[in-house]
Amino acid sequence: MTVYLVGAGPGDPGLLTRRGAEVLARADVVVYDRLIDHSLLSLAPPGALLIDAGKRPAGDETAEAGGGFGAARQDDINALLVTHGRSGATVVRLKGGDPFLFGRGGEEAEALSEAGVGWEVIPGVTSALAVPAAAGIPVTQRGLSTSVTVVTGQVGDETGPGGVDWESLARANGTLVILMGMATRGEIARRLQAGGRPADEPVAVVEWGTTTHQRVARSTLGELESVRLGSPAVIVVGAVASLGLSSLDPRPLRGRSVVVTRAPAQATVLSRALVAAGAHVIELPVIDIADVPEERESLQRAADSVADYQWLAFTSANAVERFLPLLRDVRSLASTRLAAVGRATASALAGHQLVADLVPAHSSAEGLVDELPQAEDGGRVLFVKAAGAGGALGVGLAGKGWDVDEVIAYRTVDAPPPRAEVAATVAEADVVTFASASAVSAYLRLRDTAGRALPVPPVVACIGSSTSVAARAAGLSVAVEPSMATMEALVVAIAAHLGDMPAPPRTSAGS
Ligand code: SAH
Repeated sequence: MTVYLVGAGPGDPGLLTRRGAEVLARADVVVYDRLIDHSLLSLAPPGALLIDAGKRPAGDETAEAGGGFGAARQDDINALLVTHGRSGATVVRLKGGDPFLFGRGGEEAEALSEAGVGWEVIPGVTSALAVPAAAGIPVTQRGLSTSVTVVTGQVGDETGPGGVDWESLARANGTLVILMGMATRGEIARRLQAGGRPADEPVAVVEWGTTTHQRVARSTLGELESVRLGSPAVIVVGAVASLGLSSLDPRPLRGRSVVVTRAPAQATVLSRALVAAGAHVIELPVIDIADVPEERESLQRAADSVADYQWLAFTSANAVERFLPLLRDVRSLASTRLAAVGRATASALAGHQLVADLVPAHSSAEGLVDELPQAEDGGRVLFVKAAGAGGALGVGLAGKGWDVDEVIAYRTVDAPPPRAEVAATVAEADVVTFASASAVSAYLRLRDTAGRALPVPPVVACIGSSTSVAARAAGLSVAVEPSMATMEALVVAIAAHLGDMPAPPRTSAGS
């Protein structure tokens, strides 16, 4: 029985540590804070109990952010952790940034120890360093600042007696990083000036840093009070605050959020390509792949007689993965040629040391029919497909004189309802991606655990022409459809399309 006090990082879900992700993946109970990115909750097992500890009691406007609850609330949270910890459950207490920096994680650890419950802290990337970095501000820099002080702006708050000695901090002359300081920024600015900091000292305010909502304001100490940003924000005071380092090669999807609807086993290629381009990825599988027991026998029979066919045609990587393991001896394919509808299907074949003999230039059933040669006498094709898949390939090939046998290797089924907390994050996404017609219809049909339909983000991106056709037929307007049906081409096409659209509001050159 262990309670893990896990740092969720500053906002960008990619900044959770690997150790944090690992304990989340086996959590029975997750108690999470308001500031954490809700898409992280999809890392917890489907049956895990999720408890929102960030709900403030009605009328409580005092606590600004993160761990800033009233004292009574903190006692409730401690009690909650103790109760679940005692029950023997694996409990993850997911906190913004690092749990031991103004996160009240120390108090939770003490409460657990007192109750005899085991705990472990898993540090996180703190907003105090990561949020300035996301705005291009190094908190120390040779020649500008040799020290950094992280300080709470909740003057006289519950984290310690005595409040903050701003005048001494002013004299210390290094960078100041102020958390929870937006409400009191006027008073802080005045006291730092009273301590000797000049009115024109550079200040940067970074709101929702590292997230797709990040906004940056540059100002001075004298003007800090009139900066119009809200919480959560980090205030940086000092010479470094005038820096705005930016990459020469900004990732094209930075600050954009993209929904990936593929089945989990296939989502990774696309998700990785999107993350590499800087996007925030929300994985929301809407379909799953299932066996079709009543077809198993005919599928096996087809696999046993594969040598009787001149061509073996696949229209998806799933078909490849389901069919090839049924071969008793791969040498039975020796004189059978292989057709793959597109590059993804061909690379599934390559994963089994098989080279596709034909990948049509246009990735569609029609493209395949066009490029497959006319049949010679008695020529036979075996087409391995999904249940309910379109008949265009079979009809087209028959038209070219082939004797076509179709076998069903799998069927797609709707995924279980996504968690309402995760589905809600889709409302703010820029793009949704579909890789098949069945994903489109499943997306529109699916309801989250609260019974709500999934919001459709402003940009719909489809891979493959049959996917686009299905999306348009369902009333969606498809803005992105790469000419090549590959994941890489999809990412490039999304970036090109968004490049022509106004970026999310940002005031810093570096972001
Ligand atoms: N333990 C957390 C801090 C909790 S206090 C950490 O290590 O980051 C909460 C304060 O952190 C907020 O009021 C704000 O000042 C800051 N903060 C947290 N996330 C932030 C973000 N994404 N952008 C800007 N400030 C953030």
